[in-house]
Amino acid sequence: MTVRVAVNGYGTVGRRVADAVAAQKDMRIVGVVKTKPTFEAFRAVERGYPLFVNAKENLKAFVNAGLKVEGTVEDLLGDADIVVDATPDGLGEDNRKNLYEPRKLRAIFQGGEEPGVADVSFSATSNYAKALGKEFVRVVSCNTTGLCRTLNAIDSRFGISHARAVLIRRGPDPTDIKKGPVNAIVPDPVTVPSHHGPDVQTVLPHLNITTVALKVPTTLMHTHVIDITPNNGISPGEVVEVFRKTPRIVLVKAKEGFSSTAHIMEWARDLGRGRSDLNEIVVWEESVNMAHGDLFYMQAVHQESDVVPENVDAIRAVLELERDPLASIKMTDMSLGLKKWW
Ligand code: NAD
Repeated sequence: MTVRVAVNGYGTVGRRVADAVAAQKDMRIVGVVKTKPTFEAFRAVERGYPLFVNAKENLKAFVNAGLKVEGTVEDLLGDADIVVDATPDGLGEDNRKNLYEPRKLRAIFQGGEEPGVADVSFSATSNYAKALGKEFVRVVSCNTTGLCRTLNAIDSRFGISHARAVLIRRGPDPTDIKKGPVNAIVPDPVTVPSHHGPDVQTVLPHLNITTVALKVPTTLMHTHVIDITPNNGISPGEVVEVFRKTPRIVLVKAKEGFSSTAHIMEWARDLGRGRSDLNEIVVWEESVNMAHGDLFYMQAVHQESDVVPENVDAIRAVLELERDPLASIKMTDMSLGLKKWW
């Protein structure tokens, strides 16, 4: 049996999730929703995804562009078992009320939505079981996903008394040509702490965490500098071993040429995955160190793609296609060619 998945919002995240879903044996794409007949719409059709428009009044533009459209979002939702909502920040709540709830359709939302949009905020290696059978699940943002992956790996093995993280965030995504900064470092927000710590706590409520964030002129990746006061004795070697065995975390070495996020993304291009994506969180092995009793490390996050496997697992958890977290994560990771940890 394959479950029928609709993708509402076919942008940076939606396009990637559609491809990842199409790569699963237990899922298929029944349609994707576009607002304008841009090249992404043409590519969706070339990829074999039925194309739908978000509103009737936009249909004509697609027809004029020579694109075959199957109907509106309402038509699509009637034919789906679940929808992945990857529309821009803030639309999720209205979509839930106006589109999904009236049809009793389950939905996966993204991290740009408020946590209240869903029954549970989700990061597969941290809290898969919490999403089993739920109606609405929110996959947390790219930064929160990155923090949850490595912090949960350490916390569940050693215990964390307090975690602090400085987030050096990419300015915009590569195609967001109207956003910056171009030549500035922007405290974002200037008040401390930032919202990222509380967002991590939507997944790991017991974790004591404080975060600070700044935006910088780069489009490639985010970088996090993490400082952990552990509960128990801990050594860098043990932490590296835990990271090595944890899904969706990869270790790289600066001495092997991984001098920057530019080098990490160059390696990603060389890996030859779709869109040169890097779904794993990347930890610089040499950065895993102790100072004054605290553990430090630095990690990089490919913001456009780390949440993609999480969406696949969230679908499996919500529809209870697989109750065992690691079984789902393994299925997803094998299908996408991610790091072998099993
Ligand atoms: P995006 O702007 O790249 O894509 C959104 C798509 O939805 C666009 O194609 C837009 O045309 C379309 N759209 C707009 N209004 C619509 C409507 N009413 N109905 C259907 N489609 C509509 O945005 P994105 O970066 O993919 O972000 C989507 C969500 O994912 C947000 O919640 C965001 O915070 C989250 N997210 C983004 C990233 C990232 O780095 N881009 C990472 C993790 C999570």
